[in-house]
Amino acid sequence: MNENIILKCENLYYSYDDNDNYALKDVSLSIKQGQKIALMGANGSGKSTFFLCCAGILKPCKGNLFFNNQKIKYDKKSLLNLRSKIGIVFQEPDNQLFCASVYEEISFGVLNLGFSEEQTRLKVDNIIKALNIQSFCDKPTHALSGGQKKQVAIADILVMSPEIIIFDEPAAALDPKHIKIVHEIINKLTQSGLTVIMSTHDVDYAYEWADEIILFDNGEVIMQAKPIDIFTNNDILDKTNLEKPIIIKLFESISDENNYPKDLKELQAYIKARLK
Ligand code: ADP
Ligand code: MG
Repeated sequence: MNENIILKCENLYYSYDDNDNYALKDVSLSIKQGQKIALMGANGSGKSTFFLCCAGILKPCKGNLFFNNQKIKYDKKSLLNLRSKIGIVFQEPDNQLFCASVYEEISFGVLNLGFSEEQTRLKVDNIIKALNIQSFCDKPTHALSGGQKKQVAIADILVMSPEIIIFDEPAAALDPKHIKIVHEIINKLTQSGLTVIMSTHDVDYAYEWADEIILFDNGEVIMQAKPIDIFTNNDILDKTNLEKPIIIKLFESISDENNYPKDLKELQAYIKARLK
């Protein structure tokens, strides 16, 4: 990770109606290139709205967004460019997939960017191989399972070679096998240096995975910090109804120290050392 700020927003407001009911209120934050960011907060706290603003799908009513230090512009050409650089994998794949076949679906965005049929075919083939989805890439999209649709939705975005990929609750409605597949894809992406922003309710996953957590409450960002600083802050956890991750609960039940384990392995090592 480096210190370049890839995405920044300043005093962002968004309202779905003309009354002063803001789904986002005065949101200011910065995300560095290569960071793994988890967005957490109750349903309705503004996470999806924030994502739609980042990807240029919604235009904030006040405030500014910057991508790579450039203020986001809302003309057609700038938006096409922005959407190829900041990809969003929607919570519900049916809101994202609209082509009849998987192949067409993954090709669509690339063709739209002006690549030739030949270049597009190469890109699509590479993504299909990288995600290991050959077995269903010739099927019509409507015949896919929820987990398969999610993988195609990810392929849709990756094929555009984005700089930031946003996952809106990637584990929602998936079975454990497909959650594992999606998490493995996300791990590979972060290892390759892509900036990944994800909303999740899974405190255990966020604790181990994220470099930073951004906590939303009622349209506002109330904290952006390392997972350990969020999950040991009892006032913040109470306010947002977040549970502690199991690793922290267990550690606090056996230790008064504050050298919290970062993951299960470190916790096991700590327990083993104590048992000696
Ligand atoms: P989250 O993703 O954290 O669950 P959302 O961004 O979906 O939160 O919602 C934030 C607020 O905006 C909520 O009050 C929600 O009811 C409202 N909202 C979300 N989408 C729409 C919409 N399409 N039309 C009107 N209100 C919406
Ligand atoms: Mg949401």
